[in-house]
Amino acid sequence: MEYNKLTISELHDLLQAGKLSSLDLTEFFLARIEKIDSSLKACISIFKEEARRQAKKADERIAQGEKNKLLGIPYLCKDNILTKGLKTTAASKMLENYIAPYNATVIEKLNNEGAVLLGKTNLDEFAHGASTENSAFFVTRNPWDLERVPGGSSGGSAAAVSAGLSVFALGSDTGGSIRQPASFCGVSGLKPSYSRVSRYGLISMTSSTDVIGPITKNVEDSALVMNVISGFDQNDLSSCSLEIDDYLKNLNKNLKGLKLGVEYNFIDSLDVKMSDQIKKSLAVFESLGVEIIPISLPYNKYAGSVYYIITPAEISSNLARLDGIRYGFSSDLKVEQSNNNLNDIYLKNRGQSFGEEVKRRVILGTYTLSSGYFDAYYKKAMAVKEKIKREFENIFETVDAVLTPSSPHIAFKVGEQVDDPLKMYLEDIFVTGPSLAGLPAISIPAGFVDNLPIGIQLFSKKFNETIVLNLADQFQKKTDYHQKNPNIN
Ligand code: GLN
Repeated sequence: MEYNKLTISELHDLLQAGKLSSLDLTEFFLARIEKIDSSLKACISIFKEEARRQAKKADERIAQGEKNKLLGIPYLCKDNILTKGLKTTAASKMLENYIAPYNATVIEKLNNEGAVLLGKTNLDEFAHGASTENSAFFVTRNPWDLERVPGGSSGGSAAAVSAGLSVFALGSDTGGSIRQPASFCGVSGLKPSYSRVSRYGLISMTSSTDVIGPITKNVEDSALVMNVISGFDQNDLSSCSLEIDDYLKNLNKNLKGLKLGVEYNFIDSLDVKMSDQIKKSLAVFESLGVEIIPISLPYNKYAGSVYYIITPAEISSNLARLDGIRYGFSSDLKVEQSNNNLNDIYLKNRGQSFGEEVKRRVILGTYTLSSGYFDAYYKKAMAVKEKIKREFENIFETVDAVLTPSSPHIAFKVGEQVDDPLKMYLEDIFVTGPSLAGLPAISIPAGFVDNLPIGIQLFSKKFNETIVLNLADQFQKKTDYHQKNPNIN
């Protein structure tokens, strides 16, 4: 049986009916990872024994009559989310041997539910990037074409779900890192509203926009995972105590009369094959009774510039603790040999263990926060961020949700633009706006261009995950793009 093609609900039914054990399912995925991941390179660590132990425990709980939806379901997790007693590297040499002392809240919640953690996935170092080429360890490949990137920074998680190495995976999204790789790999990726899912135990990148979310085969699975991982957490000061919806139950609400905003300038800016394919999805929504409303988002064009000022600023501050003394890699230069020159030690520890992109961001961030430049860059960026937020608030007075492309093009080739940071930053033009505004946004498969998957992004008001998931789920009930699998075996 091709368990790699089944969704959470389908596997849940088999597990509950006693037709399959979680241990067998876990062995199936461990064997598949062993076979496929040597060419795909989606995983950094695999925890075979720990996964088997969790699977046996899940089987006992099933035998005792527990019916949790994710009980016994194997998953993978991006390697910037802490897992107690297990390696968490953030794909950096700085944390290559770091064993997390506690579990992130999302991992704790998934443990309580009975999901089975198979291992950790590759990412751009500290989640800085859009291709997973910035990993300090290796480049993850796109399962649809191994010469291409899977997107990033959650490229390992998206490639793994697309290739069927686990049923679902966790990613993190600060400025597109769930949605863009989801679109490149033909899977569904939800960035929840900021503060909807606890960030406790997520290695901080940009604390004002970081959020953990699910990467799945379809939207129903995203709703199922969201039902488990979202909610208030006293360990996360930004966590929100608003009650959460039952995301699964709300999937089947009638869409008739719903208003979907479309900025046609975004779509028309794409290559014609991409724009034609994206326009087809508008027709699908219309057939569901959704009204398409042309909108204009003039401030969105500044989202990338604002994001690439705020993000490095927060990175430079968040990564300061990684100095090889408090945390992380320590070079062979020791305090006693340094004539008490701590600066030399920091320089060596950080210089030898941070990659180029991380260094670039630390330098940029330190610059924009420095006196003399703070007002011109950081303060200005924060002001424009408010304008962008307000622009969205105004739009949501006339429409219920917005549709855009997820990415300006199909997955690019490994090495094609890795030496051009600005080009890489432009990957994020459609996804950084909703991040800056803290909005819930999903990318779902919307067809193929040159045999590679493309995605559409749907987003709505803060905390309105329900409408985003409902729109996306009903789109999938009318299309079969999400059911196509790459030919990798
Ligand atoms: N591509 C974006 C960046 O490089 C997204 C990163 C993210 O969301 N973690 O910053």
